[in-house]
Amino acid sequence: MTLTRDPDAPPEASLPPHALEASAVLAAFASSLEGLRSSEAERRRARYGANVLAPARGDGVLHILWRQINNPLVFVLLGAAALAIATGKGIDGAVVLAVVVVNAIIGFVQEYRAGKAIAALSAMTPDTATVLRDGEKVTVPAAELVPGDIVLLQSGDRVPADVRLVVERGLRVEEAALTGESVPAEKETAPLPPDTPLGDRRNMAFAGTYVTSGVGTAVVVATGMRTELGRISAMLRETTEIETPLTKQIAAVSRWITVAILIVSALLFATGLLRGYPAVDAILAAITLAVGAIPEGLPAVITIVLAIGVRRMAARRAIVRRLAAVETLGSATVICSDKTGTLTRNEMMVQHLWAPSGHYRLTGTGYAPEGALLHNDQSVAPPDDVAELARAGALCSDSTVQQKDGKWVITGDPTEAALEVAARKILGDVAALRRDWPRLDAIPFESERKFMATLHATPSGGQVIYLKGAPEVVLQRAARDGAGAPLDAAQIAAQVEALAAQGLRVLALAAKVPAAPLAALSEEDVAGGFVFLGLQGLIDPPRPEAIAAVAACHGAGITVKMITGDHASTALAIGRQLGLADAGDRAVTGAELERLSDDEMVDVVRTANVFARVAPEHKLRLVRALQRQGEVVAMTGDGVNDAPALKQADIGVAMGITGTDVSKEAADIVLADDNFATIAAAVEEGRRAYDNLVKSLAFILPTNLAFALIFLVAVVFFPIEGGNALLPMLPTQLLWINLVSAVTLALPLAVEAMEPDIMRRPPRRPDAPVFNRFVAFRTVLVALLIASGTLGLFLVQYFSEVGIGIAPDVALREAQTMAVTAVTLFQVFYLLQSRSLRDSIFSIGLFSNPWVYVGIGVLLALQAGFIYLPVMNVLFGTAPLSLMSLLEAVLVAFLIVPVITVEKAIASRLAREAA
Ligand code: ATP
Repeated sequence: MTLTRDPDAPPEASLPPHALEASAVLAAFASSLEGLRSSEAERRRARYGANVLAPARGDGVLHILWRQINNPLVFVLLGAAALAIATGKGIDGAVVLAVVVVNAIIGFVQEYRAGKAIAALSAMTPDTATVLRDGEKVTVPAAELVPGDIVLLQSGDRVPADVRLVVERGLRVEEAALTGESVPAEKETAPLPPDTPLGDRRNMAFAGTYVTSGVGTAVVVATGMRTELGRISAMLRETTEIETPLTKQIAAVSRWITVAILIVSALLFATGLLRGYPAVDAILAAITLAVGAIPEGLPAVITIVLAIGVRRMAARRAIVRRLAAVETLGSATVICSDKTGTLTRNEMMVQHLWAPSGHYRLTGTGYAPEGALLHNDQSVAPPDDVAELARAGALCSDSTVQQKDGKWVITGDPTEAALEVAARKILGDVAALRRDWPRLDAIPFESERKFMATLHATPSGGQVIYLKGAPEVVLQRAARDGAGAPLDAAQIAAQVEALAAQGLRVLALAAKVPAAPLAALSEEDVAGGFVFLGLQGLIDPPRPEAIAAVAACHGAGITVKMITGDHASTALAIGRQLGLADAGDRAVTGAELERLSDDEMVDVVRTANVFARVAPEHKLRLVRALQRQGEVVAMTGDGVNDAPALKQADIGVAMGITGTDVSKEAADIVLADDNFATIAAAVEEGRRAYDNLVKSLAFILPTNLAFALIFLVAVVFFPIEGGNALLPMLPTQLLWINLVSAVTLALPLAVEAMEPDIMRRPPRRPDAPVFNRFVAFRTVLVALLIASGTLGLFLVQYFSEVGIGIAPDVALREAQTMAVTAVTLFQVFYLLQSRSLRDSIFSIGLFSNPWVYVGIGVLLALQAGFIYLPVMNVLFGTAPLSLMSLLEAVLVAFLIVPVITVEKAIASRLAREAA
């Protein structure tokens, strides 16, 4: 890489950044560890452009258009048009051509819009980066980074640009995207020889790679297409899978139907010839059947239903990253959720302190630093040991609490913010405390370690290390109390237990004076020798909406399991409040899981719903164990190490607010609000999408089969009058129905309302075929109805007209118009019945989907034109119908309503008996 040189930069910056001292790179980019000024960043953005890769080139417009034309059916139609024109039926030929064009346009618009919806999926989770601007730490969209920016990296971050490291602590970066090497590379800051290959540039971190552990500060040296990732981005273009198991299943079904119908068409052609049809009529009948009966629009309808599901989920704050998640969500049987922040509010407040001098309570609400310290229900001044417990909590913390617009808001970890609020209540001014006890170094909190430590200079000129973390972890490092006496571990454990049993999150604090002054903290410095200061107990109440959502999931046959890093008793107490656990239940801990074999684990995961002190690697085993029992598992996660479990789960769920970039990348959906209730909402939307898909199938397929039946019966049995075949429909008329009803009737079902029992029925089996018994039976039943009704009306109309002396060709036109109108009306009534799979239209809400009525209105208007407009009479060979004939058609078509009502009643009776 050559340095993207700033024109203001000094001349020695001709070497690549990895070969220079970090300070020289900073100088070359006219930057400093304070970060750029915002105005300067602005200026550079104008010069260097946004830090984005050139957008992936999706399928071009022409490409999509060609796909609409490059379809055997279209060629068949074009052939038919040519045939019609060649045999002197110029108008028919033109109509067929027009239909082909309109069809292609509709297909194009549908596919283009679906493609846009899919492309938008990846844009819904924009990357951000933490940078220093004007000396302040701010989070900005990664697209706004410029060369010279100072970025702060921590574990879980996606490196937002190519950067030269200036400071690092234990930084490891997974660079598989660039180097193919999946073992994280250790980083350092010293200069390297200029010719060091990319994979060995240990003082650089590259855009698109991931920090797996540690922290670092770095200066941006290249952005956008000038990064290493930009150079190879053509190879890395993200492709969002548009195919899902369902669309594949349906494409397969469509292929079978297509083959079957082509065979039937060929047989029809042969039969027609044998019966003495004119060859042209025989061919046209066969082609008409093929075109009318093959459900070519089906895969597009399915994609649209799924894309609408994506949009609805986004409106309910669940951002879908893979289209397939929409359908998988509908079949979820187990949801494994983190506790803190997802099931609970993550608004922590210290409620209880325990120091050598005894138990204390803190009053107050939220993060407002107003409250009193109570001892035996009396307000007291803090004794020394409580003061030090509070001080340790405030100093060993990275969050801040501020009043903004009258409200107390925090930045950083709520657990730590609560400790600061407690210190303010007990000690008063925390800012002064932090000034007088400046921090020299820190080991940040990580879930795996369960502790955090900080090194401070004391006002008296000495040093102290404060340690806070999970009690058992802190106790391992603290063997003595303040007086130097050995600790009574059992007594402390009992206190922890008592607090945890109330649902409090318990943190232990400890202090140590280093033997000699330290410049930095090493693992050794925090390995032992601490003095135990006491405990702080934090409340973090369940979210009320999570309690409701857990109940909703239970009603929907979905098990909810809580998987938390917190203490077992705390977890169990919260689990009870959420309705996840009963009085007799136990929490299974990570340590227990570790001892179990994979087989034993299967038994444990079936019964237990609360898992505590769980490490990310346990999550992966839990998912596998559940999957081995055939469960469809949704698993939440936020950390780097949760990524494997998220990938393994059927639905990986990442946290939009607190989640790391790595976890979001691995997930199928991202919760914009980190809230468990959002998962339940997504499940509901997933079920709705699946229902609507089945509704669309059950609506579309019968008409196709009906066409096949109508033509088969006509060609095989109907008389040949005066050398002309008595066909119930002309090819162009069939195309008319196909075209018009596809747009007006099939699409409204894609946005159908939710069935009232959507969250009261068990999850669908994931391997259940969409083309199930219900769809098959319905298809046959409705097709028989439509075909017999239509044929009957056609015959009655034709022969009664002929009987009163009307010319056969005029009678045929009227009878054919009647047949087309009948099919259309059947579809209208059947659409109303299709709105709910099992219930009546009234239970789903007569007006809950207004699009249905819009579609019907448009269709009826078009059909009226088809019957009565002279120009349509010429184009499609139709004839105006009398009011009486129309009424007959309406009455016959209405028959479908009672028939389907009875079918639904019998089906739900059978379902109840089976249950
Ligand atoms: P989950 O989201 O899995 O329900 P959790 O927040 O309860 O998570 P972790 O964040 O992994 O789990 O925390 C595990 C334990 O580490 C906590 O129970 C607590 O004892 C301790 N802990 C949590 N946050 C901090 C912190 N900021 N500093 C020190 N210790 C902490």
